[in-house]
Amino acid sequence: MAERRNQVFYPSGFTELFNAWNRFPDSVPAAGTTGLIRFQADQLLDLPRSIICLDHLDELRKITRTERYLEIGAMVRLSELEGLGKIVPEALEKTIAHIAGPQLRNIATMGGNICYPHRRLDISAPMIALDAHYELRKARGVRWVSASRFALNPGPPAIDKQELLTRIRIPLDQWDYSVFRKIENSGAYGNNTVMIFIIKTQKNVLADVRLVFSAASILRDRNSESFLTGKRLPLSRRDALEFIEHWRTFLAAVHKPEHSAADRAAAEVPQHDAPETLQHGMSETSFGTPLYGTSQELFTRDKILNLIKKNILLLAD
Ligand SMILES: Cc1cc2nc3c(=O)[nH]c(=O)nc-3n(C[C@H](O)[C@H](O)[C@H](O)COP(=O)(O)OP(=O)(O)OC[C@H]3O[C@@H](n4cnc5c(N)ncnc54)[C@H](O)[C@@H]3O)c2cc1C
Repeated sequence: MAERRNQVFYPSGFTELFNAWNRFPDSVPAAGTTGLIRFQADQLLDLPRSIICLDHLDELRKITRTERYLEIGAMVRLSELEGLGKIVPEALEKTIAHIAGPQLRNIATMGGNICYPHRRLDISAPMIALDAHYELRKARGVRWVSASRFALNPGPPAIDKQELLTRIRIPLDQWDYSVFRKIENSGAYGNNTVMIFIIKTQKNVLADVRLVFSAASILRDRNSESFLTGKRLPLSRRDALEFIEHWRTFLAAVHKPEHSAADRAAAEVPQHDAPETLQHGMSETSFGTPLYGTSQELFTRDKILNLIKKNILLLAD
């Protein structure tokens, strides 16, 4: 039997899209394709055999604002949000501004960044901190899921087969303090860690505190957030140090040096996709003990704790 050739579908509506997906269940949605071809150095690209290009779905390009929410279609490019000004929450705006260069941000989409299957990319952190929700669509209906549930585990996000991310809904709350920090792992070809730390105050009292890291997976310790909520600013040094200790305990619990092969495979970029430097020669010990035990996760607990320490002490007297 003749081998099936590569094929690309260009649906202009959801019915057409899900019909194609139904006929070819292994089809992969393509947005800006920067993630699909990431880490490929050969001239001939290795692409999925069947692709559903989302380019012609106007529905996915909309940006709307209501009194309470900013709603962003999955095909909205990162650069489009850069030009929107103050309606984009500061935590998201800062995150986008630090993703690669303007050329990439002109092509890459919100949906592609959020759905990237091999690790959590940068936008997951502000989405979780801001309590965003995602609209997911299948042939027979729509469901909403919180950004934190969507990105909970390492490996692929919580999206079903033949399910599409269509819309992102971000509550437009007023945050008094938004900190963005990025740990750039220079040798790791874009496997960065992003920290988002946002705070709401009422009469100098911390009314809401959220601290989220996105890396191979998401790190968020709600216990330490609750510990700070209700405290007066400036924080006492003792409270600031106790907050750091909460995080130390949390990180010790999620740090699992002994992982099964399945865990590692789920958390890592596929080896054939990784650049050579990742496949060989990156010693774990030269970067400290990696979180989750993967050789790609070159940041350490200590780097994260230092970042937390620096930022929480800024709020202390
Ligand atoms: C040189 C370089 C540097 C980079 N630096 C950074 C960085 O600093 N920070 C960072 O966060 N990222 C970085 N990236 C990654 C980049 O942000 C992602 O590749 C990009 O956001 C993916 O968006 P896309 O539209 O190109 O998605 P695609 O490549 O089209 O898709 C990515 C994945 O998501 C799936 N997908 C896409 N849209 C949907 C949808 N609507 N519903 C369901 N599944 C969908 C696709 O099937 C695919 O699996 C970098 C990439 C490159 C090439």
